[in-house]
Amino acid sequence: MARERIVKVLIDGATSDLSFTYLVPAGLRVETGHRVRVPLRNRSAIGTVTVLEEIETDNLGYPLKPILGVVSEDPFLTAGLMRLAEWISSFYLTPIESVIRSMLPKPSRGEEEKRKTAKFVELAVALSPEILESFSGRQKKHREALVILQEQGSCPLTELTGTHGVSRPALKALQERGFVTIVDRIVSRDPLGEVEYLESAPLVLNDEQRIVLDQVFESSRLVEAGEKVKPILLYGVTGSGKTEVYLQAIQRTIEAGKGAIVLVPEIALTPQTADRFKQRFAKIKDQVAILHSNLSEGERHDEWRKVLDQKARIVIGARSAIFSPIENLGLIVVDEEHENSYKQDTSPRYQARDIAVVRGHLEGCPVLLGSATPSLESWNNVLSGKYDLTTMRLRIDNQKLPIIRVIDMRNEGKKSQSGPTILSTRLRLAMEQRLAKGEQIILFLNRRGFARNILCPECGYVANCRHCSTTMTLHRKEDRLICHICGFSQLPPSRCPECSSRSIVNAGYGTERVEEILRQVFTEARISRVDTDSMRKKGELRNTLNAFRSKKIDILLGTRMIAKGLHFPNVTLVGILNADVGLYIPDFRAGERTFQLLTQVAGRAGRGELEGEVVVQTYTPHHPSIQFARHHDFDGFAEYELAMRRQFNHPPFSHLALITSRSVHQERAEFSLKTLHARLKRNLPAEISLTDPLPSPLVKSHDQWRFQIVLKSNGARRLASHIREVMKDLTFPDDVMVTIDIDPYSMS
Ligand code: ADP
Ligand code: ZN
Ligand code: ZN
Repeated sequence: MARERIVKVLIDGATSDLSFTYLVPAGLRVETGHRVRVPLRNRSAIGTVTVLEEIETDNLGYPLKPILGVVSEDPFLTAGLMRLAEWISSFYLTPIESVIRSMLPKPSRGEEEKRKTAKFVELAVALSPEILESFSGRQKKHREALVILQEQGSCPLTELTGTHGVSRPALKALQERGFVTIVDRIVSRDPLGEVEYLESAPLVLNDEQRIVLDQVFESSRLVEAGEKVKPILLYGVTGSGKTEVYLQAIQRTIEAGKGAIVLVPEIALTPQTADRFKQRFAKIKDQVAILHSNLSEGERHDEWRKVLDQKARIVIGARSAIFSPIENLGLIVVDEEHENSYKQDTSPRYQARDIAVVRGHLEGCPVLLGSATPSLESWNNVLSGKYDLTTMRLRIDNQKLPIIRVIDMRNEGKKSQSGPTILSTRLRLAMEQRLAKGEQIILFLNRRGFARNILCPECGYVANCRHCSTTMTLHRKEDRLICHICGFSQLPPSRCPECSSRSIVNAGYGTERVEEILRQVFTEARISRVDTDSMRKKGELRNTLNAFRSKKIDILLGTRMIAKGLHFPNVTLVGILNADVGLYIPDFRAGERTFQLLTQVAGRAGRGELEGEVVVQTYTPHHPSIQFARHHDFDGFAEYELAMRRQFNHPPFSHLALITSRSVHQERAEFSLKTLHARLKRNLPAEISLTDPLPSPLVKSHDQWRFQIVLKSNGARRLASHIREVMKDLTFPDDVMVTIDIDPYSMS
């Protein structure tokens, strides 16, 4: 009887979850997660090993082909990640192959892992005094080179010829005579390599922090003892010292010989946040990997490699960092757990916070979700006993939460003669006072550009994007109308394209316009604008925030980029220019988002000795989101909003699935969805409700027409499995794309 090792291999690009079985040649080291080359019909292909086992091959009845070789030196995915991939694939209705691919950074997905190499000079012989002496006089540099190599073993070629001044001909001579060899070695690009970090010592925790930390430790202890633990939701007001708790929890995790992942929303992964981690762990700087979107593909890959090689044991990163291949995971922290950016809006459409909980469950590690404005999903999980709750209601040193004043802009509008009122009298006065005292100000407006759109008062023409069903935003610096959906741009017309009127006007305002006005009003003040337009260059955001911190800037004006994770003790005034942006969009989460944003932005004020003030400008001052935020009343807001959600059976009381069809042909997109709808209607159990096929709120985007069906059920898994069943053998025309989004966050 022959017992042989076989593997199941998932071929790259496979759309079904089918995997093929191969023999493992004797002596070849293969594990699950390895990338391998295999024969497939009459070609060869690359794939990932999903199963490795030993079986009797004698009575198999058919011959198995052997795999041709391994592509990666070591497995790219840990066993834990393989199980996670299966979970994601079945929950989010995504082929497992595409899930696995999205877990790997691009340069590692191909035939060969692309890694950066550099030339190194190595000593090829054992040096004796005789050899050294043979280089004298004019050959002094030859000798120096050999001595350096003897001390260091090897040396980067550029360093030898640069810093040490060894000439190329000298090096060549040494090489020809067999004293040294020049080799290619893998080096890693460390984006923060040159920056020196001053170590920051752990702070003495206050009582609230102590209790939270103990709770995390207790969780770790229970897990250690083989028990199951619940995720912990840390509800801590802005400035209550959550980050310090994370830092100390991570420290303990590392000391216990385990690894930690910290998820931070992309937008909050500012240089300031990254620095706090780098400083605390300055001594073990190389064990910290930071993954953010500003890294080049190569840098990102190198950071990931450090984790795979188990050199880095702390990973801080946005959404996809949850897939870091850490072997022995001891803690997952999800900061600002309520952030919608944890949801990926392309396939696989996973929610990283939820994945963190699943991974913690699969790998037996505590999960800590933190926020000053917990998501209603998590809050409801606390109420139903799925999560444990721990709270920090006080700011550090008992600083007061800022006073929030709500300004009714309808009254302000009446005062002004022309154009939109951007600064209310109240805000303007408050700004003058703060500036006079040398204190700093943050102004927030979640809309970039100069004017929201341009229109013709004569005939009603509005400049729309020709590729999307949306208006174009005027950007004055570039002098272009730009579509914020697809990026299409065109010159602004000087007269109306419809009626040729010259009286075309700018409507609404964005950060670019506000900046212009601020410069006119506060001529003395130093003003900086932070949005994706002004912060394109690498390092620009870091420089601006540093300048603000060192008080070289008086007023910082910005979009969501400045809403989170920033801590400036000298900021005493925060102005929210238009709290209504985002409130009146057709989305049941609009109110929750507005509450969160107001609370978070307001939380930037008064984080030092000085008391803070927040001025909120709005046209709907009585809206519950604004009123609850004004009173810093998360509990009140949650109770109110959950009651509404329950009444309409909205999430978190139900789960949604959004099915969208897209095509450049309007009728085809619509027809395909109608067919699908009929089929769903026939086959779904009564418990699952579904809407008619309707045009998406953004009916055209990137030239594609979009139609949608929304399904609702009380169980997400049930919903997914029913949809899978119905869609199983349904095909659509090539030019129609149908996507399914389980637990969608954007309904547009
Ligand atoms: P959060 O993340 O909850 O908004 P931070 O962790 O940013 O709050 O803490 C706010 C400020 O308080 C930071 O400057 C931090 O260094 C400081 N801080 C946190 N914990 C303590 C402590 N125990 N003692 C003194 N200062 C602290
Ligand atoms: Zn006109
Ligand atoms: Zn467009």
